[in-house]
Amino acid sequence: MSLPVPSSLTPSKVSSFKECAYAFRLAVIDHVPQPVNSLTLKGTLAHRCLDRLYFDFPPESRTLEVARDIFHQVWDDAKINGELKQLEECESGPVDLDSLADDTMFLIEQDFIAENPQQVTALGTELQLEARVGDMTLRGIIDRLDLNPDGTITVTDYKTGRMPGVMQEHDRLAGVYFYALLCEQVLNVIPDTVQLVYLRDATRIISKPSKQSLSALLNKAGAIWKAVRTACEKDDFRPKPSRLCGFCNFKVLCPTQSTD
Ligand code: SF4
Repeated sequence: MSLPVPSSLTPSKVSSFKECAYAFRLAVIDHVPQPVNSLTLKGTLAHRCLDRLYFDFPPESRTLEVARDIFHQVWDDAKINGELKQLEECESGPVDLDSLADDTMFLIEQDFIAENPQQVTALGTELQLEARVGDMTLRGIIDRLDLNPDGTITVTDYKTGRMPGVMQEHDRLAGVYFYALLCEQVLNVIPDTVQLVYLRDATRIISKPSKQSLSALLNKAGAIWKAVRTACEKDDFRPKPSRLCGFCNFKVLCPTQSTD
């Protein structure tokens, strides 16, 4: 029996399908809920703080003091809306909320070392873009779109994990290139630069997309979309064991992880 085809392709779906089709099926098609953990919640809260810093405040007002105030508001909201409680329910051991708060604040402060927030002209944050190309819909949420002094634009994506090794750098850039492709398709503008801001390491990885690189990416996205459709038609999503299994939320459902 064929399975329903996902409504769109996003950077995370592309990497999920490439990493393990079985995990992709459980997450994207079966919608198996995934537990919250400290790492993902920290990332969510840091993104939320930076979104407010760059969207709600003009460049000259973006100081560390303002960022700390924003963090306290975001943290209080997470308490009120139950996100912190949900984390405590999902984690197997006790959760050190003080460390989580300190570490999240640390990530936000690191942004002031990685870049100068007072020199950024943000055209938008958490920008949702969607493009229909042939029979596929490409979709993505851009962390921040910046206007450069020369009138060009830069796509910025925050990363809260460790910086990748040289071998993985290309894979990590694929996501932000996907956003550049969306800018080309939706805004009819190729960004001058894309940048990954690694908050923990206060480091930026910057790259310049070209028409050719985006055209190649569009071809790759088309090939992945075709593979996803075929897998849905044949109900054929195979597990692909790798070192990533150690971080997989679906281990208990995975036939390769049987403890018999
Ligand atoms: S445990 Fe490994 S093989 Fe199984 S679904 Fe997760 S990533 Fe795929």
